[in-house]
Amino acid sequence: MSADIATQALPRQQSGPVLEIDLEAVATNTRLLADRATGELMAVVKADGFGHGAEAVARTALANGATSLGVTSIQEATALRDAGLVAPVLSWLNTPEADFAAAIRRDIDLAVPTADHLAAIAGAAARTGRVAAIHLHADTGMARDGAAPADWLRLCVLAREAQHRGHVRVVGLMGHLSSADDPADPANVAGRRAFARFSRIARASGLRPATRHLAATAATLTDPRSHHQLCRVGAGLVGIDPSGTTALRGAMTLTAPVVNVRRVPAGTPVGYGHTYVTDGAATLALLPVGYADGMPRAASGQAEVLVRGRRRPVVGLISMDQMVVDVTGVRVGAGELVTILGPGERGEPTMADWATWSGTLPHEIVTGLGSRLTRSVIPAAPHLRSLP
Ligand SMILES: *Cc1c(COP(=O)(O)O)cnc(C)c1O
Repeated sequence: MSADIATQALPRQQSGPVLEIDLEAVATNTRLLADRATGELMAVVKADGFGHGAEAVARTALANGATSLGVTSIQEATALRDAGLVAPVLSWLNTPEADFAAAIRRDIDLAVPTADHLAAIAGAAARTGRVAAIHLHADTGMARDGAAPADWLRLCVLAREAQHRGHVRVVGLMGHLSSADDPADPANVAGRRAFARFSRIARASGLRPATRHLAATAATLTDPRSHHQLCRVGAGLVGIDPSGTTALRGAMTLTAPVVNVRRVPAGTPVGYGHTYVTDGAATLALLPVGYADGMPRAASGQAEVLVRGRRRPVVGLISMDQMVVDVTGVRVGAGELVTILGPGERGEPTMADWATWSGTLPHEIVTGLGSRLTRSVIPAAPHLRSLP
């Protein structure tokens, strides 16, 4: 190995894998999404901001056009309050036994999918002497977490009564689209129509929620008829466009230093199960990243990484803590930084590539990148909108 390679690799002083989070990319994506949304923009920062850090993504989004935050559980919402965030926060996935009193005390809006949730929330509001801000949650075609059409009228009537007694204020009405990633799918029209029916029944029940919301990232980018007063976007903030229509910027870059390099003869089996055997003499570089860090084992046999500006194949099965790259013909020494995943601007594999290689979505790749990785955050430059 020549000296110039060693000295190029060493000054980085990176002794293990580093996951870099680029908040400037989050800022840019948020501004684009806020411009597309006909109403307000909610930054969905569930699952630790899609693996990018909930607080950092929330602060960046709020400084660049988002006006509220969305998460699943009360625990996630409370963590944002603990971090000092004072923007409106909506939590939409809780059991009826959840600590609604804690949520109400901390000004966390709550989605209500069933009469049981409503009763629990109204009770918690009565105990705390406060009014709970609620968003009635309708199932617009997923058989998942909103109220079914058959239960909707009763839920609206009960919510109206609870509002009358002063325990809750119905501030929102929400649905969710099953198939917005394919704008041509007829399920989108059906979902919008279902939402309109739910809205009419709510209105007929005497409810006037100021904020109706249906669109997530894909519908925000492709279907203004679904926007209403608010779009809830998560994936788009971190550079994922499920509709494939819009250039958003990935915000993660994962690099790792080569642990060792070895030359092997033709016919050398590599890794568990000997699923790969070198067909000629080869140079193999070992990377200290594996499926425990979130690089899917299912991508074995297809994955590539960027070594000195060139795509090189991962060979053999990805193990828990390590993977082997065939770097034959590339001059590489131990310590050389390899890019495993990034926005793709320098030819490196993207989260979409890793998703394709492992038969999943980019969402699963970014939320799976392990807590064991060292994180490094690049701050976003201040933007005009964030100045007082
Ligand atoms: C995750 C989620 C969103 C955000 O969806 P993206 O496609 O990531 O923008 C919006 N609404 C609900 C109910 C969700 O669960």
